[in-house]
Amino acid sequence: MSLLQVDNLAKAFPARRGLGSRRAYVHAVRDVSFSIERGRTLGVVGESGSGKSTTARLLLGLVRPDTGTVTLDGTDVLSARGDRLHALRRRMPMVFQDPYSSLDPTWQVRDIVTEPAVLAGERDRDALAGRAEELLTLVGLAPAFAQRYPHELSGGQRQRIALARALACDPDLIVLDEAVAALDVSTRAGIINTLTDLQDRLGVAYLFISHDLALVRVVSHELAVMYLGRIVESGPTEEVYAHPAHPYTRALIAAAPVPDPVVQKARERPPVRGEVPSALAVPSGCAFHPRCPLATEVCRTTEPPVVPLATGHAATCHHTDLPLTATKGIT
Ligand code: ADP
Ligand code: MG
Repeated sequence: MSLLQVDNLAKAFPARRGLGSRRAYVHAVRDVSFSIERGRTLGVVGESGSGKSTTARLLLGLVRPDTGTVTLDGTDVLSARGDRLHALRRRMPMVFQDPYSSLDPTWQVRDIVTEPAVLAGERDRDALAGRAEELLTLVGLAPAFAQRYPHELSGGQRQRIALARALACDPDLIVLDEAVAALDVSTRAGIINTLTDLQDRLGVAYLFISHDLALVRVVSHELAVMYLGRIVESGPTEEVYAHPAHPYTRALIAAAPVPDPVVQKARERPPVRGEVPSALAVPSGCAFHPRCPLATEVCRTTEPPVVPLATGHAATCHHTDLPLTATKGIT
């Protein structure tokens, strides 16, 4: 049994419209399914607006889905209410891009990271101080940080505190939504190392959400590529990289930064021609068809199924049988 099993999640938000016009919907998440194994990392990558954050919020029951199920370690998350829902959420805490909004500025770090222990009934001051020290050490910070306030910390340190607080719940899974996106390259590398180290030591799983494919590749065992609310390709990260089957994935990989500056210069273009259509007006059939060089009539009329591939991964495309060279003109 997978640690987390997500099936057919969908969420459309009602959009505000002028008087008299038909009710419109933002189709944020459309039929999303995936699973995460214990101690593993699933990377979810997609452009802004592709439904990554909504997916994360659906998992935690922070947004109610229109359809779909979420099971954590065999327990149905979406039917849980009250204390049971809170207990489930503590097993999969979330870390956001901007921890300022989630770390109370008037609390010392010590109180932030021991709040879960206090809520669980711990009152002994020495025990709480010991717990704070233990958590800070886990995330690579000196125990002296316990006395600081969030505004006295750098961006990377704040993100480490957010991580410590997530770990304070002894989670099975941590949901990281663009958690390192705002950090400079070296700070980011340090946090990525800490995440990997924590996974090795504690066996915690991650749902690692990012718009940056190169970054997701580094941290993820499995990869899911999202486009306008659907997963268009998924599977073991290196399989997807070696044999990308969806034209959108191929374009993303072709556009991802490479170490060679000359090659990089030639590649600094948007991943695919044209703009991502609005989730208010998702194109018919395959949502990618207006930008796809392979699109045929069936793509305009019929939503593609999830097609299992010989390489052990899957793509949501009518033309997975076409050879790679057919998409050469895409970037
Ligand atoms: P991502 O995290 O990939 O950038 P989001 O999940 O935040 O994408 O958003 C997906 C789509 O849903 C976007 O078009 C966004 O504007 C819309 N959306 C997200 N939350 C809401 C909401 N509460 N009400 C209306 N639309 C929303
Ligand atoms: Mg987001």
